[in-house]
This record gives sequence, C-alpha cells and structure tokens, in this order.
Amino acid sequence: MEQKSLNSEHILIVRCGEVALKGTNKPYFERMLLDRIKKLLKKFDGVQAYRHEGLIFVRADKELNPDLKPIIREVGKVFGVASISPAMESESNMEAIGRTAVEYMLRAIEERGVKTFKVEAKRADKNVPVKSPDISRQIGAAVLKGCKVLKVDVHDPDCRLFVDVRHDLSYIYQDKIPGYGGLPLGTNGKGMTLLSGGIDSPVATWMMAKRGMLIEAVHFHSYPYTSQRAQEKVEELASLVATYCGRFKMHVINLLPIQEQIVQNCPEEETTILVRRFMMRIAERLAKDTGCDMLITGENLGQVASQTAEALVVTDASVQMPVMRPLIGMDKVDIMDLAQEIGTYEKSIEPYEDCCTVFLPKHPATKPKLDRILHSESKLDCETLIEAAVASEEIIEIRPA
Ligand code: ATP
Ligand code: MG
Repeated sequence: MEQKSLNSEHILIVRCGEVALKGTNKPYFERMLLDRIKKLLKKFDGVQAYRHEGLIFVRADKELNPDLKPIIREVGKVFGVASISPAMESESNMEAIGRTAVEYMLRAIEERGVKTFKVEAKRADKNVPVKSPDISRQIGAAVLKGCKVLKVDVHDPDCRLFVDVRHDLSYIYQDKIPGYGGLPLGTNGKGMTLLSGGIDSPVATWMMAKRGMLIEAVHFHSYPYTSQRAQEKVEELASLVATYCGRFKMHVINLLPIQEQIVQNCPEEETTILVRRFMMRIAERLAKDTGCDMLITGENLGQVASQTAEALVVTDASVQMPVMRPLIGMDKVDIMDLAQEIGTYEKSIEPYEDCCTVFLPKHPATKPKLDRILHSESKLDCETLIEAAVASEEIIEIRPA
C-alpha cells in the first residue's frame, strides 16, 4: 500500500470494486462508501471526497501542498475500495491534457527517474470526438516534445501513463494502488464477534467487516488467572481492527465462575468444549440484546482439539444464531500472512495468557458426543450461570488506534 506520490498529484481516483456491480442498488452502496471515506478524511485539512461523472474522487487542496500518503493509507482501509490512483486533473481538451501530461512526466523523470513511457488513453465519455488510440498518439507526441529525455517503449515502459478522458475533466495518472475490495461497512448487518487475543479472531472479524458487516465484540477473561495486562492487549488489538471497521463496543465478561463450576462438576477432558459452548451462548445472548444477526469466530477446521469437525458440531448445537467462521478452510500460514497484512499479527503474538489456557485439560476430547456433553451440562445450572456472567459484563468503547 505504501507508494510514493508525485508532488504534482492532488486528486485521488477511488475505484469501487463489487459496488459497481450492484445494479439498481448501486447508488445506495456508493453513498455508503462515500460516507465512510468522508468520515475517515475529516481529520485532514482541505481534503474533500465527492462523486463526479460516476467516479469517487478525493481532492486535496493544492495550495496546502498536501502529503497524499497518509490520505491514501486511510482511503485504502475503506472496504469497498478496489483501487486508488493519485492523479492530475486537466480540462478535457487535447491541448490542456497534453500540457498536464508533460507536467506530470517532468515530475516522474525528476522523482522516479523515468526514462521510457507509453500512453494508454480511454474515453469514458464516448462523445469526446477523438478516439482512444488517437488520444494516446497525440498525448504521446506532446510528451515527447515536452520531455526530450523520454523515449516511447510500448512493451516494457518505466511509466504507463493512463489518460482518462471524461466529459468535464480528464485525469492523468500512473499508479493503481490496490485496496481491499469488499463492500462498504453497514451494508450487511451486524455481527457479534468472539474476540480473543490470538491471531485468528481479529482476522475473522476483519473478513466479515470487509463484507460490509458492522461489528460488536465480546471478550472473555478469567481474572485473576488472566492478568489486567492481557485484557489491555485485547483492547489494543481491537483498536487495530477498529481502524478498518470503525469504533465498536466490546463486552468483557469474566468466565471464571463458569469455568470453576465445569471443573468441579464435569469430566476433565470435556472442559474445553463445555467452556466453548458457554462462550457461544453468552455471545448469542449479547448478540440478541444488541441487534446482531450472527456470531463470528476465528475457528478453523482441525486447528486444535476444539475445532475438529465433531467439536464444531457440538459447539454449534449450543446456539440457534448462525455462526460465521470465515477462516474455516484457510491454512494457518495464510491466516498469519493476512494478520501481517492488516497489521494485527505483532500485537496478537505478544505472550499473554488467555482464558482458554486456564484449566486446560491434559487430553481434551477431540471427538465429543453431544449426548455426553448435554449430560455433563445437566449437572450445571446453565441458565443462572449465563445470566450471572452477562449481568457482570463491562462494556468498553473501542476506538481506532
Ligand atoms: P484465536 O487465535 O482467535 O485466539 P485460536 O486458534 O486460539 O483462535 P481457540 O482458542 O480455540 O482458537 O478459539 C477459537 C475461537 O473462539 C477464537 O477464534 C475466538 O473467536 C473465540 N475465542 C477464544 N477465546 C476467546 C476469548 N477469550 N474471548 C472471546 N472469544 C474467544
Ligand atoms: Mg485463542
């Protein structure tokens, strides 16, 4: 995502990926996308986002000599953005475009050592009288005239100069910086994510938010077996996720009373799966209270004893709400790569204890049977335990880091 931007660029062309495929719903998705971009750009002076001729633009006031890099970084985090191009703007006539292209390329020579180029023009507005190949040829000739050191290389140029000719204005740019794609936040319901301090659940949360889902979170701890610092780590991790999905509420719940009851009353090898079923039920309760449509976990088939096919079936049977497990079929290395990419990995691997590691059985059941689990649970007053846990919740406002 890190990209050097030329000094003369002061416009960003923001392309929406799937949003563009939304047919009659397109205006709604575009509005949501633009709203999100505007919100994130509030902290920059002299920067505005708007729609024009079917595209979304971000304009930085040239007078303020804007540094586009932090702006690109913010826009790049908006779900629904497929790519971003820092561009120069010109009036839509050949002479003006030629002049702007020369100015652009003089900068490219100075700042990037460009020696060869190729113009690739396209007409978004077919009423423009000159055809695309002719635009390319004319602008190429203007650049050659204005930048004597440059040569044309149609096969492997240092700079592919894109010229996008539109009705009112035209745009000249070189780079297409990829965004994450996805759909704008708020266009696909709300999910209650079970957020631990590990590698997986922040990535799972990010993946669902990327599809437009608003986020609310629950975190379980076993204080004083788990430390205050461990909880702070989770809050910091949540703040990193919030840089993408916006601020959200995190419900923090002490699971220790439930864990103690399980340890005292149920077979040791069932501890993990029983704890997990309680987590799910508490999460579902909170989800219903806060208008969430589904639960989200970082579970992944076969990763640990509690994530075998049999264990997932028994976990699922504890709730009625759909459980989204976006990482289910991924390999751990790929999850780790994605965690690196989105910036949560380093925080996740900080070594703090997790409530799941408290009372960890020596030989957890990898093939739990639902009837046996239900029998063990019958020894517990599940409803009272869940209600007490929910009643003792603490709610934390998570803000973007
Ligand atoms: P992670 O890296 O996300 O912690 P994991 O591989 O360690 O996952 P588990 O500890 O079995 O796997 O947890 C599976 C899922 O259960 C997690 O991805 C998360 O969604 C949820 N979970 C686990 N521990 C907690 C917790 N302390 N608070 C909230 N959710 C949790
Ligand atoms: Mg974990």
